[in-house]
Amino acid sequence: MRLSGIRLEHKKNTASSQSVPAPIPKTVRIAMQQCAGAACDVLVQKGDKVLVGQKIGDSGKYMSVPVHSSVSGTVTGISELLQVSGRVCKCVDIETDGEQKVIGGIEPPVVSDRESFCDAVRNSGCCGLGGAGFPTHVKFGYDDKKFSVDTLVINAAECEPYLTGDHREMIENTDSIFDGIASIKKYLGTENVFIGIENNKPDAIEKMTKAAAERDSSVKVVALKAKYPQGAEKVIVYNLTGRVVREGKIPADVGVIVINVSTCGFIGDYMKTGMPLVKKRITVSGESVGTPCNVIAPIGISFEELLRFADCDMDKLGKVITGGPMMGIDIFDLTDPVCKTHSAILALPREKKESKNVLISYKTQTNCIRCGRCIQACPVGLMPTELEKAFDRKDRDMLKRLKVSLCMNCGSCSYVCPAKRDLAEKNQLAKALLRT
Ligand code: SF4
Ligand code: SF4
Repeated sequence: MRLSGIRLEHKKNTASSQSVPAPIPKTVRIAMQQCAGAACDVLVQKGDKVLVGQKIGDSGKYMSVPVHSSVSGTVTGISELLQVSGRVCKCVDIETDGEQKVIGGIEPPVVSDRESFCDAVRNSGCCGLGGAGFPTHVKFGYDDKKFSVDTLVINAAECEPYLTGDHREMIENTDSIFDGIASIKKYLGTENVFIGIENNKPDAIEKMTKAAAERDSSVKVVALKAKYPQGAEKVIVYNLTGRVVREGKIPADVGVIVINVSTCGFIGDYMKTGMPLVKKRITVSGESVGTPCNVIAPIGISFEELLRFADCDMDKLGKVITGGPMMGIDIFDLTDPVCKTHSAILALPREKKESKNVLISYKTQTNCIRCGRCIQACPVGLMPTELEKAFDRKDRDMLKRLKVSLCMNCGSCSYVCPAKRDLAEKNQLAKALLRT
C-alpha cells in the first residue's frame, strides 16, 4: 500500500469551542433508515405520545439498528424522505412538547459476554458515527471461527477540512471514550488498542495520552501526519498496525476492528446510562455561517434550523454539504432531517468564483494533460485517469483489472486534477456499473 495522501487547508475554526446544545425544535422528522442496513418499520402511529429514548422504529433484520425518539411530543404523521441514495424511507414526524420527558426503564444494560454486549449495542441504536453508519453490533459480532481479532483501532483522525466533532469528543468526553474502550476490550478480547489522531490536534493528543496513562497504559495514542485521507479505514489500519487490508477484504481479515472515536464515546455513555442514540454532535461551519460551532443536536432536527442557529446568512447561501468537502454530499432540501450518520453541515457562499477555496470553486473541465498527479495522489495506488477512460467505454473487464473496487471515494484525485476531471465521481459510477 502506498500512502502518499494530499495536504489540505483545514479551516477547523470550531476546534477550540465548547459544543453547545441545540434548542429543541417545534417539530422533528425521524428517518427510519439511518444506518447502512435495512430500514426500520414504524412502531408508532399518528396521534401517539412519545418520550425521549422511546423506540419508534425497528427491523427484524440483523443488519439494522432501531431508531428512538429524540424528543417528547405527539406523532403528527408518517411522511416520506427521499434519500441521497435515491431510496425513499419513512419518517416519523413529531410535534415536540418542549418537556423532554424521558421514557421509563432507561438504565445501564446488563451485559455478561460478547453476545449480550452486541445485543446491548444493537438496542442502543448505535451505528458508525463517523459517517459510514455501519451497524456497530455487526462489526462486534464477527464470526470468531473465521476471524481472529486482536486489535481495536479507534479512528480519531478526522482528516476532512472543517470537521471538528471528533476533536471535541476527545476533549469533552474523554472518560466515556475510555469507558467504551474498556467495554470493547472486555467483551471482544482485543489486546491491542490504538487511537489514531492527526497531529493537527495537539490538545486532543495530549488529553488522550494523559487519560491513557491514567486509565489503561496499554492503549497507544498515536499522532498521525495530517494528510488526507488519513482516516480512511484501510489507511489508518496500515498506519497504526502495519497490516494491509487487501482488495475485497475487511479489517477483521487482518485481526482488526475499527470504530470511530465518537462511536466509542457513545458506547461508553450508553453502558453507563442506557440512554440510546438520540442526539449527535454536528459541526456547523463554512463561509456562510456567522457563528461556526459544534452543536449537540436532537436526531431529526432540520438542517435549516441548525444553520439558522449558527447565524447562517441564508440569502447568500450557495451550496450546503453534509460531511466534509471532500466526501460530503450536497443537500438539496434544507428541511431534511439530521440523521445519525451526519457529522457536519457546511454552508458555502454563492460567490464561488471569487472564493480562494479551491474546494468550492466552479469546475471548468478540460482535457487530461497526462500529468499523473491523480495517480500520485491516490492513497491506494489506483490509476484514476485510466479508470475514467475505462468507465467512459463501459469496459467492465478493464475496470476490474484496474481494481476500481479499491476506490474509497476519497476525492483526492479530483482535488489535485488541474483539468478538473470528475475522476472520483466516475469511480462511484463505475462501481455501480459493476454491481448491475
Ligand atoms: S477517489 Fe478513489 S481513485 Fe481517487 S484518489 Fe481516492 S481512492 Fe484513489
Ligand atoms: S490529474 Fe487530471 S490531468 Fe493529470 S493525469 Fe490525472 S486526469 Fe489527467
